[in-house]
Parts: sequence; structure tokens; C-alpha cells
Amino acid sequence: MKMKAAYTLLGILSDFSQKKVKAYLDEELDMWARRGVHGHFSGKHPWALGDECIVELMADIVGARKEEVALMNGLTVNLHLQMYAVESQLQLHGLDVEKCMLMIQPRKGEETLRIEDILDIIEKEGDSVAVILLSGVQYYTGQLFDIPRITKAGQEKGCYVGFDLAHAAGNIELHLHDWGVDFACWCSYKYLNSGAGGLAGAYIHEKHSQTIKPALIGWWGHEFKTRFLMENKLQLSPGINGFRLSNPPILLVCALHASLEVFGQTTMKALRRKSILLTGYLEYLIKHYYSEDKANPEKPFVKIITPPKTEERGCQLTLVFSVPIKSVFKELEKRGVACDMREPNALRVAPVPLYNSFHDVHRFIEILGSAITSAKQTANNAATS
Ligand SMILES: *Cc1c(COP(=O)(O)O)cnc(C)c1O
Repeated sequence: MKMKAAYTLLGILSDFSQKKVKAYLDEELDMWARRGVHGHFSGKHPWALGDECIVELMADIVGARKEEVALMNGLTVNLHLQMYAVESQLQLHGLDVEKCMLMIQPRKGEETLRIEDILDIIEKEGDSVAVILLSGVQYYTGQLFDIPRITKAGQEKGCYVGFDLAHAAGNIELHLHDWGVDFACWCSYKYLNSGAGGLAGAYIHEKHSQTIKPALIGWWGHEFKTRFLMENKLQLSPGINGFRLSNPPILLVCALHASLEVFGQTTMKALRRKSILLTGYLEYLIKHYYSEDKANPEKPFVKIITPPKTEERGCQLTLVFSVPIKSVFKELEKRGVACDMREPNALRVAPVPLYNSFHDVHRFIEILGSAITSAKQTANNAATS
């Protein structure tokens, strides 16, 4: 599992949500100063209900019902709680990772997975598989998987089907409930802008609300009505809410709240509509200016490894270069572009529809041109010296 910091095309962070974060934090710090512990149950947003006050905004973003979503922990913690941080859970239970974990790889010479290969593995191996876990959008290639189709195929074989939506939440339209996805989790600090280490999300479909129970139980999973009686008699909240362990961290709630309110002013449908055009524009310009020219082998070029079909990608494009990536990245940074480099040879750029414009994309293309030229120059100099 790879971790990474937020990356945006031109590093223009959404100013409006940052302002709200500060206001909300100030409000809670003030409350803390004036009321101390009583902030737990009084005030506009009692801390004990901090997460529940904003969960509906999050549910809208992933296409789930309010009762199907909980805001808690970090993403990896939620993967563990939902019992599927796979390798580590297999080891914990004394199972052989080699034998018990089936990984899907792209075909030789290809960068992304073919849906027919995923469905084929499910068809062949599904009878012996308990849980299928995939990312919604693959972090390296930017490939978006056909979540409803994979869900249906897996469930027909009797598997639970879940998704790590770290790169999908706030990026693409999701309909977790309608698609019947069994479980999912995601972090909120990539496309959802909640700040490093922000509060993560987790989902379990309502059809499992009485049957899927947490293996590890904490007092916050206890029904609110009787939670504070401390009678030592568990009344577990149904579904994902029963998986909650601890008090919600109110300062993280503030940051997430500010961001989700900005998302609440639009819809994922509208953002996605702009996103398809914005990423399409970026793709068009890259191909137009920086494609490989067989007649001119000296000309440096850029290749896009993200799938070309809009339904197979979100806003991110992953680029590979004919010139050394490290110097392209350095030249871009020098010119004020914040994007993300992955060894050995990939640069991830993500024009984000919430706050990047078509003009930003155009500017990026111009800057990319001069960065590539400088990188090529550096490589030539190194070769001749
Ligand atoms: C970002 C990311 C994570 C990060 O997990 P944290 O627990 O929030 O640090 C995990 N998985 C994937 C696929 C990611 O992209």
C-alpha cells in the first residue's frame, strides 16, 4: 500500500475551504477555552456528535445512505477494522500470504488491467475467494475500475466485494448503495482536502447492517442512547456505526466539515462533468504538443499510461517521459507546479475540477514544454561533458 501527499496540478489549494477551516477551528478552540469538558454535550456542535453532524455530507459524495457511512480513524485503520488490510491480517491469522492472497497484474507489456481479465479471474477463482478488494481508482496509473460490474461478478460467486476509494472519493461519481458494494473505505485528505491525517470514511451496505459485526469492539460502537450508562451490556449500533471505537476528534472534524460544505455547494455529477472536459483538454494538449514523432527521434516526448476512455479514469493522468523524469520534475517545481513523481518513471498530474481551471491546464502545458526542453538540455550536457 502506497501513501502519498496531496497533489494538485498547479498547487492552487482551495482558498475558500482553508478560510472556513480556520473559522471552525477557532470556534471549537474558543468553546474549549470557555466550557472545557462541557463542550462534549453542549454548543452548536457537541463534540460527542461531531462526526455524526457531517456524515450526511460525506454520504452524498460516495452515494450512500447516512446510516451506511461512518467517519473515523485513518484509512489503513479502517481497512484493518473491516478485516481486510490483507497481508497483515493473513499473517495475524497465521495464514500463508502466498497461498491466500491472489493479486491481479496487467498483461505483459501493458500498464493497466483489462476488465475482462478481472472478470475472468473472478469467474475462475471466485468459488474459493472470500473477499475481493480493489481500489476504485488505481493510485499509480489512475485507472478507474468498473465498480458495479466487478461487484456484481464477485457477488454472483458468493464473495464479499469491497473497494479502497482513497483516489476515488471526491474524484469520480460513486453510487455505493445502488451498486450494492458490500464495504468500502477512503481517506479524506486527497481529493477531499481535509488536511494531512484527516478523518477517514468507511461504509458497509445496509443489507449487512444486522449481519456483519466488528471483530474488535469499542465503546463508541455502542448505541448512543445507552452508551454513557456504562452498564457493561453491549448494545451494538447496526452496520458500520458499530465499528466505531473512540470519540470523534473534533479538530479533524472541523477541517473535514469545512471542505465537505464546499462540496455540498455542488454535486459530484457536476464536478465530474467538468472533470471529464478538464482532463480531456489536458490529454488533448499533451498529445498535440508532446507526442512521439518517429520522423524526429531527437524530439523529447510524453506518453500517457492512464486509460484513454473517460469511463476508465478520474481526473488524474499518469505521464511517462523520454527524458529523465527527475529533471522534468525538478524543472516543474522550479516553475511553481506541484505534481507528484513516482519511481521509476511516472509523473501524476491531476487537474481538480473543484479549483483548477482550463486556463490552469493551458499554463501547465506551456510550463511542461519549457521543463522538458531544460531536462533534455541537462541530459545532453551530461552526455557531452
Ligand atoms: C493514500 C492511501 C492510503 C493512506 O492511508 P492512511 O491510513 O490514510 O495513511 C492507503 N491506501 C491507498 C490506496 C492510498 O492511496
